[in-house]
Amino acid sequence: MRFFSKHIKVRKRDIPAGLWTKCKSCSAMVTQSALESNIMSCPECNYLYPLPAWKRLRTLFGEGEFFEIDSRMHPNDPLKFVDSMPYPLRQQSAEKRAGIPEAVVTGIGSLGGFAVACAAMDFTYMGGSMGSVVGEKITRLIELAIEKRIPLIIISASGGARMQEGALSLMQLVKTSAALARFNRKRLLYISVLTNPTTGGTTASFASLGDITIAEPGALICFAGPRVIKQTIQQDLPEGFQKSEFLLAHGMVDLIVGRKELKAKLIEILTLLETPKFTNETIRGVVAQNGGVNFGPGPLEA
Ligand SMILES: [Zn+2]
Repeated sequence: MRFFSKHIKVRKRDIPAGLWTKCKSCSAMVTQSALESNIMSCPECNYLYPLPAWKRLRTLFGEGEFFEIDSRMHPNDPLKFVDSMPYPLRQQSAEKRAGIPEAVVTGIGSLGGFAVACAAMDFTYMGGSMGSVVGEKITRLIELAIEKRIPLIIISASGGARMQEGALSLMQLVKTSAALARFNRKRLLYISVLTNPTTGGTTASFASLGDITIAEPGALICFAGPRVIKQTIQQDLPEGFQKSEFLLAHGMVDLIVGRKELKAKLIEILTLLETPKFTNETIRGVVAQNGGVNFGPGPLEA
């Protein structure tokens, strides 16, 4: 026994970093690979971890079925804002961590043969906060959906407006909402998907304006968080307050759909609403013709 304890003892530094994770919700020890194969949800308690934008898009679109637009749009530092570090440095470290230059990826894709304009927010980039570039990218996507007369799907994951851009960040609430009002007047379909967590200015603008609102199970969806509200009103909050299930029971959400079932559910909705179908070749052709960024005028041809 002595031999074993002396020679086969696993030293802490022998375990590769990041291989095991302690679940935030149930404290179970889960491997990173088990988490990833379960689309970043705990295999023990189903707690939903933030899903990076591209991983989310991969659950919806197959190879060659999604084409990004405005991929090089990058935030600026209009207020020369410094908190514990200058905003440009914060952007750099966020970009390194998330692998994308802003907290949202937008594009056009073929979802089961339906052409859709789709945005996925990324909580790993500065908590999915909505700065001017996030607002601009979402607005351009809405305008593209209007121009092409195709449905819009926005998958939100956000800590709210971006403090480092002050009032410019708050203006994105108005800009995105105004674009959605124009979209709505064209009688086009907008499906809003709320993931864990969707909060603040994002909830207060485009995330709450869907024709159909889908939420992930157990997701926190709110404007101000439960702790802030409890402190303000000095009262205990009801069980499950501001979670998807609570919002479904109170009419703020239409459906609760798990990560694995989302693609099938979106296709089911698009089918039920008799959305026109396009071949992958048509969508690819339009994208290729326009360099994947600027699309010509007029709706997509079926
Ligand atoms: Zn868990």
